[in-house]
Amino acid sequence: MAKRVTTPKTRNSGTMTESAFWSFIRSGLRQKSRWWKPITECKAKAKRPYKGPLKRQKFEYQCNQCKNWFPDKKINVDHIVPAGTLTCAQDLPGFVERLFCEVDNLQVLCTGCHDVKTQAEKNESKSNKAVQRMRRSKKL
Ligand SMILES: [Zn+2]
Repeated sequence: MAKRVTTPKTRNSGTMTESAFWSFIRSGLRQKSRWWKPITECKAKAKRPYKGPLKRQKFEYQCNQCKNWFPDKKINVDHIVPAGTLTCAQDLPGFVERLFCEVDNLQVLCTGCHDVKTQAEKNESKSNKAVQRMRRSKKL
């Protein structure tokens, strides 16, 4: 019989893997951050009454990147310095500090500009990891 490699369930009375546990903690913290006042403050700063043809739209928000105006559904409040990863206890202090930041680290971005930024951050962390791997293997 072939031996299956299973991830050990080290958390929550043997019901959660490490990665399931940290994803549970992440989503709890993110939920709390939804009603964080600086996020409301950031949106309020970028907001103006909408004067266009759509009857149901009352306000619009300016994207801090492309400077165009968008409805509520098409914007995100972005962390200028991203909260980053939370996959172990060591990540926790920095993650919490960055996630629960004040308004000076927040900006309104339209979904288009936000996607571009998120993608760039992913690529950057990938290339950082590649550099770290190279450093390790070459012992630079
Ligand atoms: Zn934009």
